[in-house]
Amino acid sequence: MSPWVLNGLRRGVITTSYPAHQEAAKGVSPGLPASLVPVTEEAGRVLEALCPTGAISLERGEARVDYRRCIHCFRCCRGTDLPLDWKPGYEWATLTTGGLSAAAWPKAFHKSMHILVVDAGDCGACLNEVKQLSNPYYNIHRLGFFITPTPRKADILLVVGPVTDHMRLPLQAAYDAMPTPKLVMAVGACALSGGVFGPSFVARGGVKDVIPVDVEVPGFPPPPLAILHGLLVATGRKPPAPWQAGTAVAGSTRPSSALAG
Ligand code: SF4
Repeated sequence: MSPWVLNGLRRGVITTSYPAHQEAAKGVSPGLPASLVPVTEEAGRVLEALCPTGAISLERGEARVDYRRCIHCFRCCRGTDLPLDWKPGYEWATLTTGGLSAAAWPKAFHKSMHILVVDAGDCGACLNEVKQLSNPYYNIHRLGFFITPTPRKADILLVVGPVTDHMRLPLQAAYDAMPTPKLVMAVGACALSGGVFGPSFVARGGVKDVIPVDVEVPGFPPPPLAILHGLLVATGRKPPAPWQAGTAVAGSTRPSSALAG
């Protein structure tokens, strides 16, 4: 028997205490860049040019970060004299404007939700994070979330990947086959905006171009706790993150006089 298994048997399985308590273990999340305000025109343009996906834009003296496009490349953090602050945490999921809310289901069902996962051209990163949700550390079953292989029994459609052209019809078919009420959760920058893949010759701009999206989870890939937060937002058990889908996010104030415009 391997020492790892032996150790597990001796000590028991240690499952995260989230959502009852915030998870403080190191390395559970890479965090997110924060918008920078105030910033000079010159410094803002440098940051804009650094970002490979156009996630940073200069607006009214603020270098704003669009989480739907951010791919966690860290260039705005490590590749510049004027780095953006990096925000810890993982509660990033939000409801889209007009998206379904938890009220779509009677409360009695909120702790028995079945999730169909569709890989719509994902590189493997987001899918791997989704898989971690079922391991003993995250153990989503304890919270009443279950993965199902069939759309007929699914309440939540969890989509990863930019939706490549070949996956448009299968994704639509899976959505159509689900009973109502149903809710769509787009997970990861590619699912939210196309990320590094779209729009291109293989994909357009993410899940919303094919089916309506209700919950968005940014990240590249989002860590398991961010995805779990999305599931809790979907079922009304946690509030959504305070940023609006498709727009920039709350920033941090940097005191350096070098930033003032
Ligand atoms: S970490 Fe995000 S915001 Fe910063 S440069 Fe990379 S993609 Fe752009």
